Amino acid sequence: MSCVKTEGVQTDKNPMGMDINTPEIMQPRAPLKPSKELRNGGRVKSNAVAPTGVYLPNNNIQTPNMTSPEYVQLSTAAALTLGLMPGSMYNCSCTRCLNLLLTYPEGCRANCAYCGLARHREADRDYADRNFIRVDWPAVPMTQVAEIVAKQIKEDGDTPFHRMCISMITHPRSDQDTFTVLKTWTDHVSPDDVMISILSNPTTMVRDDLVKLKDMGTDIFTVSMDAATPEIFDRTRGKGVQSPHSWAKYWQTLEEARDIYGKEKFGAHIIIGMGETEYEALSLVQKIVDMGGHSHMFCFFPEQGSLMDHLPATPRDQWRRVQLGRYLLDYAGLRVEQMKFDELGRVKDFGMPKAELDMLIDTGLPFQTSGCPGKFAEDISACDRPYGDSPVSDIASYPFKPEGAHMRKIRQQLDMEKPGESYEQGEEFDEL
Ligand code: SF4
Repeated sequence: MSCVKTEGVQTDKNPMGMDINTPEIMQPRAPLKPSKELRNGGRVKSNAVAPTGVYLPNNNIQTPNMTSPEYVQLSTAAALTLGLMPGSMYNCSCTRCLNLLLTYPEGCRANCAYCGLARHREADRDYADRNFIRVDWPAVPMTQVAEIVAKQIKEDGDTPFHRMCISMITHPRSDQDTFTVLKTWTDHVSPDDVMISILSNPTTMVRDDLVKLKDMGTDIFTVSMDAATPEIFDRTRGKGVQSPHSWAKYWQTLEEARDIYGKEKFGAHIIIGMGETEYEALSLVQKIVDMGGHSHMFCFFPEQGSLMDHLPATPRDQWRRVQLGRYLLDYAGLRVEQMKFDELGRVKDFGMPKAELDMLIDTGLPFQTSGCPGKFAEDISACDRPYGDSPVSDIASYPFKPEGAHMRKIRQQLDMEKPGESYEQGEEFDEL
């Protein structure tokens, strides 16, 4: 699977002709139970192939038996930026966030319906070969990762990475191994050179874990709520798919993060287009703003092999409205109460004078990937996740500043085109 995909062109409407993904549409398939010998990484463990350095995902060869904390997986964008695999990305020379994923033959023990790493895939694909947010995740010895970045800083005085983030996944060992991976990192790279984020796994964590991670140098702690309402949470990552997570525990961890990490130093991931209304999504964003945190948004994409891979990606109209609304709440001081919504919960009025809103749209900032900030500005995410939630042919979260045809396309999706500046299908690629 390559980093840059162009298939799956998304239109502004879903197949039902609607510009929103309703709860009736967004129903996951039921997970199938793999045979006993294939559960818990059975195939990888019984083959017991010893790992030898970097492993590039390949579903046709025997996956080595790689385990954190010695091994981690990293995003394709991070592997390209580190020079561990060849290739390039559309309009991005690198990523500014080094996203690491804990890895085990057993994989993540949760079963989230939208996720390519989910447990139900164990018969179909070994953990280290599974796609996640549309890309492969090569496995690399953790020491090697830390040494490469330390060398960049020592020899060049800098590294392309503004931030390093450990994604914990759900596994009985993930708390302890996160500490060890973090220690390996800070033994080589100072948090003053590369800031640290944790994408947590609340299901296995206790409050003291958050404190310890902060004491070890973590700057920002995030919680992947993913679902925008408790009902969608339960349906997509709780009892509905035989997965262990609960909204209450995730919310409790978010509150603990607020108490321990403080204002602007915690955040929540939210996936848009899984059946919530725009009002529900933006009300959640407001709640998190009121707590002092930020929301990091993802556009739902039907991840291949997931329990939702048959469902439509989020219509771009819906996505752009929520993306813009989130930016206004998170960074422009607006409140959800100032916005107006229609009977289907769609944003009808952003509550900002048109001239002001136009200026803000033209910055392109609301449409760039959202996440923990890097070294440029508070509202520019280090975590740019190139093409993690859309194909290049119809970008949802921009890993670069959208301008020209990209901006005309965004304005068309928002139904806010400027006079004489209409968008022609595919013109952004003519500009290359
Ligand atoms: S806990 Fe995270 S990694 Fe595991 S299945 Fe759910 S979303 Fe995927």
